[in-house]
Amino acid sequence: MSKDIAMGRALAARNRLNLFDDPRWEERFEVLIRLTQRTQLIQSLTGTDVRPQRLKDAVDRRVAAMGRDIARPRGIGQSYTAKGFLSKLVDKYDAAYLVNLHYGANGPGAASQAETNLGAALDKRIEVYLQYRSALYENPDDARVSFETYVVLIDGVRNRVVDVHTCQECSSRFVWTLASNVRPTCPVCAIHQQSIESSRRKLAELLGRKPTENCYSLRSAS
Ligand SMILES: [Zn+2]
Repeated sequence: MSKDIAMGRALAARNRLNLFDDPRWEERFEVLIRLTQRTQLIQSLTGTDVRPQRLKDAVDRRVAAMGRDIARPRGIGQSYTAKGFLSKLVDKYDAAYLVNLHYGANGPGAASQAETNLGAALDKRIEVYLQYRSALYENPDDARVSFETYVVLIDGVRNRVVDVHTCQECSSRFVWTLASNVRPTCPVCAIHQQSIESSRRKLAELLGRKPTENCYSLRSAS
């Protein structure tokens, strides 16, 4: 029994060993693993030379210590050239929100592309993503665009495989992959149009009329 306790202590002490020398990177790591547990993505965002297995173990330990489940995605990760990448209108709407937050008023110009500092680049991605999630979702687990998708998307913009357009109607920036055969249309306008139409339909249903009849009776009454 006492031997088990001693072993537990030894393990616990070893658990506390940091992965990074710099405490700022330790802090970033703690936040990052709440957003993604994909080893490859963590490696590329932090630039760590820690071996994948050690990184995986460290992530698993810390996530377990937070009382959360490990949710490590399988497969090779996402690609902005894949057909299904942000293919749904609602996903494009969220992507537009993220791109507007990420690039701000100046858009993806030369200045915003100069991300030579890994730490600053990661801080920005974490900040933008958390802001997006808290602005659009009450429950963070409901966010349609994952942190990984967002990171891949910005890589696509930087590599000029994903275009950033500015809508003539609402001035939103939105993204469109060059591989897509479909003409770019603003997802923000499309979603808002849909919600106007659906609320018109709902109102018409409540009134027990078709929308056109409703309009007609209003017009004839005036
Ligand atoms: Zn628009």
